[in-house]
Amino acid sequence: MKRLFMNNAIPEIDIIKCDGCGDCIGSCPGGAVAIVDGKATVINAELCTYCTDCEELCSMEAIRCPFEIVISLHEQDEK
Ligand code: SF4
Ligand code: SF4
Repeated sequence: MKRLFMNNAIPEIDIIKCDGCGDCIGSCPGGAVAIVDGKATVINAELCTYCTDCEELCSMEAIRCPFEIVISLHEQDEK
């Protein structure tokens, strides 16, 4: 069985790729990101719901919301 975990996860931002367009700021329902020194920055991590909207909108592929996939091999882990 595969399970998705996102414990306290925040988006990863590649500041080399980010052109500071601000599209991800407008897409963020929680107000978790802002432009700081011309680059997208997570300024309120606790407000990020990890909805992935920012990743989907970024044309530069500069912001990513990776998920960790854990595969359980034990039957008892699924209870
Ligand atoms: S949408 Fe992408 S390129 Fe634009 S500010 Fe956000 S991370 Fe940077
Ligand atoms: S994942 Fe969602 S809540 Fe988190 S920074 Fe991106 S748009 Fe905002």
